[in-house]
Amino acid sequence: MQWWKNLKKPGKLSEPLKNHTTFRIGGAAQLFFRPHDLAELRQIVRNCSKRDLKILVLGAGSNLLVSDKGARAAVIKLDSLAFRKTSKVRNILEAGAGKPLNQLLTYCRVHGLSGLEFMAGIPGTIGGALAMNAGVCVDKKLLSIGDLVESVRVLDYNGNIKILEGRKLKFGYRRSNLAKYIILSARFKLNFQNSRQIQDKINDYLVRRRNTRDYSRPNAGCIFKNPPGDSAGRLIDACGLKGKKIGGAVVSSKHANFILNQDRCSAKDVLALVKLIQKVVKKKYGVLLEPEIKIWK
Ligand SMILES: Cc1cc2nc3c(=O)[nH]c(=O)nc-3n(C[C@H](O)[C@H](O)[C@H](O)COP(=O)(O)OP(=O)(O)OC[C@H]3O[C@@H](n4cnc5c(N)ncnc54)[C@H](O)[C@@H]3O)c2cc1C
Repeated sequence: MQWWKNLKKPGKLSEPLKNHTTFRIGGAAQLFFRPHDLAELRQIVRNCSKRDLKILVLGAGSNLLVSDKGARAAVIKLDSLAFRKTSKVRNILEAGAGKPLNQLLTYCRVHGLSGLEFMAGIPGTIGGALAMNAGVCVDKKLLSIGDLVESVRVLDYNGNIKILEGRKLKFGYRRSNLAKYIILSARFKLNFQNSRQIQDKINDYLVRRRNTRDYSRPNAGCIFKNPPGDSAGRLIDACGLKGKKIGGAVVSSKHANFILNQDRCSAKDVLALVKLIQKVVKKKYGVLLEPEIKIWK
């Protein structure tokens, strides 16, 4: 029986994932779901677990490279209204995992809540940002979303809801211990500030990003993590790899840690460029660059 057809929002077979990633690359998902609400999400998770079908959670797909063969898994995208709710009690903000970061910042500005402005311009959802502990480096200081988290509500792969707080939350540089769950929502502790000042800060961060990041072609942001005490972009640039091309994939001339989908490129092209960069940087500087992007094979 095709159980996925009987949902309020029925699952789909063979959904092209290139339509759900900012890289615009990727084959199809075996099964693709956009659950209507939490009850439906739990039903999907239990059904997949029962059938040993791997589950992959998708946010805005802005940190992902999906293989050309696609994903032999059930891919779940939490973009229904039920997963995009936002509310606040005094200075504690609660946001659903599917909430896009830019919309959350608008909410913060309107309600005079400050703290998350540094996330301005990062094209993801709350769920993806928490799983990745997304953030920016400002004046050599790392600002990450995890620093502001009070608690996170998650679903485990048996369909049980848990609230993780305090010591149960572990955030590191572009990683967290949340990736093993389905993140449902999170609470952030913010500060009160007037909307004008919040908007000014957001504008500052956006200008800074526009000057340094490359938005000219589809991409997934920084490909590699920065090695301790250095910058991956600096090392790649120093190896003369800006503009290096394999197939339709090219190393950005503006930001050497960005690979652009310049000309209908495949995941194979990107992976070949990733390997080449790793090899050249390792040979010249003895540093093995670790990918920051998640690769679904
Ligand atoms: C132009 C550009 C600029 C960028 N700049 C930055 C930057 O400055 N700093 C930065 O940190 N990142 C940056 N990124 C990368 C990316 O935007 C962030 O990592 C973002 O937080 C990813 O969110 P997402 O919703 O797109 O996650 P996705 O890419 O969809 O997923 C990323 C990972 O999170 C997991 N995930 C997503 N949602 C959930 C959930 N609900 N529960 C559990 N796991 C989940 C996925 O399974 C996957 O492993 C940039 C990307 C682009 C394209």
